[in-house]
Amino acid sequence: MKIIRVGFDLPVDKLFDYRCDDALPSDIGRCVLAPLGRRSALGIVPDVADTSTVALGRLKPATRILREATGFSPEDMRLIRFAADYYHYPLGSVAVNALPTGLRRMRAPTSSTSFHFALTMLGAAMAAEDLPKRALTKRCMLALFQAQGVLSSTSVSERTPTEKLAIKQLIKSGLVERREGLLTSIKTADMAALPDAPLPQLTGDQAAAVKVLSADLSVFKAHLLLGVTGSGKTEVYLRVMHAVLTQGRQTLLLVPEISLTPQLEDTVRQRFPNLKVVSLHSGLNKSERLQHWVDAQSGAARIVLGTRLAVFAPMPELGLIIVDEEHDASFKQNEGFRYSARDLAVVRARQRKVPVVLGSATPALETWHNTSTGRYALVRLSKRINNTVPRIVCVNTREVRLLDGLAPPLLAAIRRRLAACEQTLIFINRRGYAPVLMCHNCSWLSNCHRCSAKLVLHLKDRRLHCHHCGHQSAVPQACPDCGNADLSPVGQGTQRIETALAARFPQARVLRIDRDSTRYKGAWRDMRTRIEAREVDILVGTQILAKGHDFPNLSLVGVVNADSLLYSSDFRAPERLYALLTQVAGRAGRGEVQGEVLIQTHFPDQPLYAALRDQNYTRFADALLNERRAAGLPPYQYQALLRAEAPSIDTAIQWLSRAAATARNIDNSITIYDPVPAGMMRLAGRERAQLLIQSSNRARLQHFLAVWRALLADTRTTAARWSLDVDPLEI
Ligand code: ADP
Ligand code: ZN
Ligand code: ZN
Repeated sequence: MKIIRVGFDLPVDKLFDYRCDDALPSDIGRCVLAPLGRRSALGIVPDVADTSTVALGRLKPATRILREATGFSPEDMRLIRFAADYYHYPLGSVAVNALPTGLRRMRAPTSSTSFHFALTMLGAAMAAEDLPKRALTKRCMLALFQAQGVLSSTSVSERTPTEKLAIKQLIKSGLVERREGLLTSIKTADMAALPDAPLPQLTGDQAAAVKVLSADLSVFKAHLLLGVTGSGKTEVYLRVMHAVLTQGRQTLLLVPEISLTPQLEDTVRQRFPNLKVVSLHSGLNKSERLQHWVDAQSGAARIVLGTRLAVFAPMPELGLIIVDEEHDASFKQNEGFRYSARDLAVVRARQRKVPVVLGSATPALETWHNTSTGRYALVRLSKRINNTVPRIVCVNTREVRLLDGLAPPLLAAIRRRLAACEQTLIFINRRGYAPVLMCHNCSWLSNCHRCSAKLVLHLKDRRLHCHHCGHQSAVPQACPDCGNADLSPVGQGTQRIETALAARFPQARVLRIDRDSTRYKGAWRDMRTRIEAREVDILVGTQILAKGHDFPNLSLVGVVNADSLLYSSDFRAPERLYALLTQVAGRAGRGEVQGEVLIQTHFPDQPLYAALRDQNYTRFADALLNERRAAGLPPYQYQALLRAEAPSIDTAIQWLSRAAATARNIDNSITIYDPVPAGMMRLAGRERAQLLIQSSNRARLQHFLAVWRALLADTRTTAARWSLDVDPLEI
């Protein structure tokens, strides 16, 4: 009897056994429908076995293995297993969530017209002579598959009935399988041909980088490509990709934000006009995502460009992984399955024995540290392509009077750009209109009563919105505490700046770009086109504008409220602010003109601003690393966070205290801190607290977490909901 073990998307770390008489070893990684309670649920098969710890009579039969649908290869499963183990998250959940939603919701067989037949690993290992002598056609067909690897559906349908039957039998024995996706009939390596247009002449730095990065493509190696903004990292990526593609292998390119994909996607498509490029991100609709996933898996897509979820995209011929802007926090998923796609990309590259390139102007300190220990190789691009470094200047806001939040030197600079027909970017580190309402009499602030966030005033509906839990309320007529009627907004939101700019520069065309204005599909693409066509004079925007965009006519960047990030309780705040400001500054002067960056700050003497003015990341990073070492913080320590939420903070803290007591009995080399209320304490009516765990030894921490988690899972509790966050980014 055959047993399959099935993982479902359930919050339990457990696989379920089912009877499945026709199960094959090649079913590992496939989707399966099986009865779960009263319903039929979609799961993944991580294992096929002959025995079960459950009495055979009590085993239910699985409904059906979805052989017609795509599943995961053994290599994909290896990554999924690693992720489940390392992040201490149920294997079934990790696997099911790595599937595109379209596939996850599938209940009936998909009747796909695009499919082909491929040799399985089992089939590749089997000698045709091992088949019975009489099974002549079967032998022939196996030999054919072994010679060609794949057959298209049309070529199979044109075969004789006996041959078709033989192929059916090969499928039944797991030697051949049906795969989704059309077969690309031309040999893909030849299609990596470059366009006719001449490629840019590489700079010396770039040429050296390309040489190092493509030196040995058949081994695992992690590289940090440290290149100041505008140093031409993308061109280096493209050259290394080309080297890999001409070997007939696929490349995976991970980027932090969906908004970044269109521009990069265009660049990549133009470079490889004959190859199929697909994107994978949450902005696609269900069927697009499914199709792109299937294309990646069938090998039809040679290049996959995506956000963090794409790190799990099945790619049978993966030859290279690139992570652009590797320091970006959005590579970390911050709810549910809390994984770091950047770190998993490195793991995946190691498993597949392929190189991985992490690119950034301001690498994460963890990554930077890895280059000093020799784990990652360092490759540098130290000059901007056009050799013009933007001039970075701080405007001391204690010495000037702000007009609607804008300092006179900034206004004057904008006026100069308008006269020169150049573009300006005003960067604001927030969204919404004048974030917080304040009473100037008693300092009352508009707090959200459901969570500890501040309510933000939106001009459009004249209401207060909580950006964390979604709560809304009307704007109060007077201060709830002292009755003062003079309530006014503090800080500058994008909408207020937009209004102020429009009033001051009536002739200028102002465009606001933030998450609100780019919500609908294609909005960002339209805006980009307008910017490139110079239909915009002043851009006002948030984080979304900071990253990777290349606007050649933009020569001035104004940063309005940098300080708010400087005094955060998070030890990563300076690292983040430096990266953010570097990126924002990098938007200025990417074309021919010299760029200028004006930062409004109360604290122009901060070392951070000094390092930024000199554009000296390594000096800044080394100084921060020294501080981290002295303070016993990552990357010198490894951390995990146990998060708990309950209707009241006391319950959450009590639950964590008991968890801490349990922890102290497991391994006394692990540092267990005391539970504390979380930074964002209330969220949607529940209160949250957290417990920090730390160790200088990653393996020990991992071992400890496995034991601890099992104990916590055993003590059934309804009092608190909890989750583990390994290598937390936000504490
Ligand atoms: P980064 O990603 O390092 O910030 P980009 O890759 O965006 O920099 O490159 C900056 C600009 O320089 C782009 O417009 C790019 O097309 C151009 N560029 C890159 N390499 C070269 C080169 N070798 N010669 C001319 N222009 C180049
Ligand atoms: Zn008041
Ligand atoms: Zn709220």
